[in-house]
Amino acid sequence: MAPLDAKKVLARAVIFLGPPGAGKGTQAKLVAEKLRVPHLSTGDMLRENVGKGTELGRVAKPVMERGDLVPDDLILRMVEDRIARPDAANGFVFDGFPRTLAQAEALNRILERQDFGPPVVIFFRVADDILMRRLAGRRVCRVCSEIYNVYDRPPKVEGRCDLDGGELIQRDDDRAEVVRERLAAYNRQTKPLVEYYRSQGMLDEIDAAAGMAAVTDSVFGVLGQPKGRA
Ligand SMILES: [Zn+2]
Repeated sequence: MAPLDAKKVLARAVIFLGPPGAGKGTQAKLVAEKLRVPHLSTGDMLRENVGKGTELGRVAKPVMERGDLVPDDLILRMVEDRIARPDAANGFVFDGFPRTLAQAEALNRILERQDFGPPVVIFFRVADDILMRRLAGRRVCRVCSEIYNVYDRPPKVEGRCDLDGGELIQRDDDRAEVVRERLAAYNRQTKPLVEYYRSQGMLDEIDAAAGMAAVTDSVFGVLGQPKGRA
């Protein structure tokens, strides 16, 4: 009998998918901490490789400085390099990656090469009107960068930071028309990805419109399921 491959059974490659404003980043950090596995994002990986002057970083740097998108093959090499490190041997939580169908398929091949089982993909489902409210309602203190929301977390005095009285501003990215375009772009790009994972039986959807603690519970509800589920 072949020995049981502990990594394949125990290590979990967890992927969070969801639109901007769905709270994936916050949840990924929290869940990774509780699982004691690294929280990975391609942005952090790029910054780390550039900062350390690795071979990949040296190739990526001029591309980033031009403001261009870093090509997939470079991102994928960085991902493989990262998840092959010992601290990821028990699994990891990926947030914001993959973004396209091609990346998802390539990631599956990487996971296989690195002896991980199929990923657990959790889709954060939130209605567009709630995302609009979360994103377009956001205001940031010009002084201390504290974040408010005119609907959900208004300051005591309109337009002023509770902490230092600084002016609260809306970032360009959070203007309603920009948010609408960001969400549309996300939906266009991500739908095929969601369909792909669903067709592979790897997708779990959670209601991410609920409060922070309830969403964390949903995530752990999914992670608590046996891996060989139908
Ligand atoms: Zn402030």
